[in-house]
Amino acid sequence: MAQAELPVIIAGSGPVGSVLALYLAQREIPVLLLEREPALPIDLRASTFHPPSLEMIAELGMGLIEDMLDKGLKADRYQYRDRRSGEVANFDMGLIAGDTSYPFRLQLEQYEFTRLANQRLQQLPSAQVRFNAELESFEQDDNSVHATIKTPSGSEQVTGAFLIGTEGARSATRKHAGIGFSGFTYDEQFLVVSTSFPFEEVFDDLSWVNYVSDPEEWCVILRTEKIWRVLFPTFPESSEDEARYLSDEFIQARLHHLYDKAGDYDIGHRTLYKVNQRVAETYYQGRVVLAGDACHINNPLGGMGMNGGLHDGFNLARKLVRILREGESHQPLFEHYNRQRRDLAVKFVQEHTIANKKLMEAREQDVQQQRQKMLMETAADPERARAFLLERAMINCVRDSEAVI
Ligand SMILES: Cc1cc2nc3c(=O)[nH]c(=O)nc-3n(C[C@H](O)[C@H](O)[C@H](O)COP(=O)(O)OP(=O)(O)OC[C@H]3O[C@@H](n4cnc5c(N)ncnc54)[C@H](O)[C@@H]3O)c2cc1C
Repeated sequence: MAQAELPVIIAGSGPVGSVLALYLAQREIPVLLLEREPALPIDLRASTFHPPSLEMIAELGMGLIEDMLDKGLKADRYQYRDRRSGEVANFDMGLIAGDTSYPFRLQLEQYEFTRLANQRLQQLPSAQVRFNAELESFEQDDNSVHATIKTPSGSEQVTGAFLIGTEGARSATRKHAGIGFSGFTYDEQFLVVSTSFPFEEVFDDLSWVNYVSDPEEWCVILRTEKIWRVLFPTFPESSEDEARYLSDEFIQARLHHLYDKAGDYDIGHRTLYKVNQRVAETYYQGRVVLAGDACHINNPLGGMGMNGGLHDGFNLARKLVRILREGESHQPLFEHYNRQRRDLAVKFVQEHTIANKKLMEAREQDVQQQRQKMLMETAADPERARAFLLERAMINCVRDSEAVI
């Protein structure tokens, strides 16, 4: 009883920390959500919500899914395009309408989602959200976790029943726990730029999500609710190279290579970032648990990073309710979480994201032609296309993860 009165401390108010906090606070479990920044960050990151994530978010009620569907763009198909031949493999998500209530990818900026989720959190008396509160370190004993946080007025200690690290790839919780994060960093960096130019008017039958292969320069073109985004690979070797890749001149040249319109493109955001494939060696240590980017990161092709993190968040939230409301012991449930989310789901995400990148970047023309042919044959055969979509929409991965005992 005394344990349930201590809050669950959640470090990091990204999409994963936000859904976890919302799920627990809705069940009157006290949560203390700590966010390092003075306000919710607004940056161009994830923009695709897959069907299982939408189903889980719908469970939260409070009009959240309705607001998301209202704001977002429904991509009910997506395409693999061969830039040289002009061939298009068109995957119709209507083929999985019998498998999910949301047979589409919802294109919505991640920061819009955290904003909507946090608006709901403000309405719940069991939730306390603190900005300018950075988790630095922690100590734990048999019944609680004592976290040290940095605030503008100095260091402070807060005590909780559990600490959940959802602070993203550089997680202070993971580092302080000494949990390894092995994997690799790709040689290339990804350049993401946004523009309001209406690509849908110049490319024939363009869908809202397009993976474009090319032996010289593959790219991803996708539309969010507001803008088109284009992602290109780059190979900087120095900070001068990075500055060049971020220059107007380089970005204009890349966009004109994509479509040679008259005059300059208007360019909104531009980001150059390193891409990693890494998994934490364990997802928990005693009463301290990791979720989201804090314990797995991957390339963004296929949009599985944030989605996998949301699936962690819901899985862990359900287990915390069993621990804090039904008196179950935490250790076996955290071990189960580790088996379900680390050993199985992450293997899936790592394999698929690496494969998604390989699908586009082949330099040998014959390899690329064969891949395009395989994708077009798959898309044209409803049974094979459905199987492909169940994998890529993360439906199989969630089903398999739920089946792990
Ligand atoms: C350019 C780009 C495009 C992407 N596209 C996609 C996509 O299309 N689909 C997809 O699924 N994924 C995508 N991803 C990955 C996705 O953005 C991440 O997987 C997702 O943000 C992870 O959410 P999170 O809540 O775990 O962590 P984050 O979103 O990183 O949130 C962590 C939060 O913790 C806060 N914080 C950090 N340190 C501390 C601390 N010590 N104490 C307190 N707070 C702290 C941060 O300020 C932040 O608010 C993309 C990533 C990038 C960079």
